[in-house]
Amino acid sequence: MKVYLDHNATTPVDPQVLEAMLPYFREHFGNAASRSHSFGHAAEDAVEQARAQVAQVIGAERKDIVFTSGATEGNNIAIKGVAAMYADQGKHVITQATEHKAVIDPCKWLEQQGYRVTVLPVDKHGRVTADQVAEAIKDDTILVSIMHGNNEIGTLQPVGEIGRLCKERGVLFHSDCCQTFGKLPINVDETGIDLLTCSGHKIYGPKGVGALYVRRKRPRVRLASIMHGGGHERNIRSGTLNVPGIVGLGRAAEICAERMGTEAEQLRTLRDRLQAGITEQLDEVTVNGHPTERTPNTANISFAYVEGESMMMGMDDIAVSSGSACTSASLEPSYVLKALGVGDELAHSSIRFSVGRFTTTEEVDYAVERVVKAVRRLREMSPLYEMAREGVDLKSVQWDAH
Ligand SMILES: *Cc1c(COP(=O)(O)O)cnc(C)c1O
Repeated sequence: MKVYLDHNATTPVDPQVLEAMLPYFREHFGNAASRSHSFGHAAEDAVEQARAQVAQVIGAERKDIVFTSGATEGNNIAIKGVAAMYADQGKHVITQATEHKAVIDPCKWLEQQGYRVTVLPVDKHGRVTADQVAEAIKDDTILVSIMHGNNEIGTLQPVGEIGRLCKERGVLFHSDCCQTFGKLPINVDETGIDLLTCSGHKIYGPKGVGALYVRRKRPRVRLASIMHGGGHERNIRSGTLNVPGIVGLGRAAEICAERMGTEAEQLRTLRDRLQAGITEQLDEVTVNGHPTERTPNTANISFAYVEGESMMMGMDDIAVSSGSACTSASLEPSYVLKALGVGDELAHSSIRFSVGRFTTTEEVDYAVERVVKAVRRLREMSPLYEMAREGVDLKSVQWDAH
């Protein structure tokens, strides 16, 4: 048995999505920009249908959607595009500490270009407040970028409150919604989001395709291009469109919309079963992230006295992630957990479990059994765990230098 519990890193393609894509590799292979023949028209029609399918999920209009190669590109276009276009109005950007690297790094790059970036700290559950944002907004603030659901811990930010605040203060609001698009209800008008990023492979669509919502009225958001070429996608993102990928993204978004309301509950039930199974059988475990304001599929758990990487080796038929998939190549403790105030030791002992559409109860039960066994085995070998059990305060221990 192999159990995949890493859906926040990527999801399998839904068979219905693959089915929708196949004709666009075969008979309908045209270039969506070829206006002079039926091959082009068929491709263009499919792209426009996908645009409507994506828009519908967030209460947007078809024309508000720009197709990208994924969320990394979407975030870069939004952040750098706004920064360059509105530089004459100010050079201050606000974000928060647990953003994905695809937001943090473009912001760092802006800093090198002479912009001021405020990175708001989060509370112990990983949340920022609208008040924090309000306090940080200055006369020269042009953009606030705050994600909806965090990929590592699942914590949800109060994007509605932040969006309404940004509207009042006349500041543009971008939100990386990769983990919640199509999974939790989001309406761009109700939340006051001006730019929203999503990605195909987080919603059972293909990799290498995503979408950026760009508000066209109240206010009309203008973006400087970071990709120059044929002027595709309202000149925001030049390059021949990935028609099969876009068709897949559109179908994936449509399926999410159909399942909105039922799938979240299904995931929550599985996640809660997993979380309860683990926390009831093991001591010295803590769940990271917000207890309730959290994506329904995510459980990030710290197992004291156990090293996350060793744990993963001890249960190699369970696919999970320690830290975030993007940074787990390095052995630095997760910056997201550090931002919550989790110490290095516990951060290294943390595992992210994320269930998905095709996860079964049997898989969850099997994973719980494997996790409990692996942790117990490692703790049996841990002198630190032994000492802690005997009531020794490890912080008071004087360790010998050799
Ligand atoms: C996966 C993810 C990204 C990166 O998306 P890609 O499409 O792989 O570039 C960005 N932000 C968040 C929150 C994510 O979960």
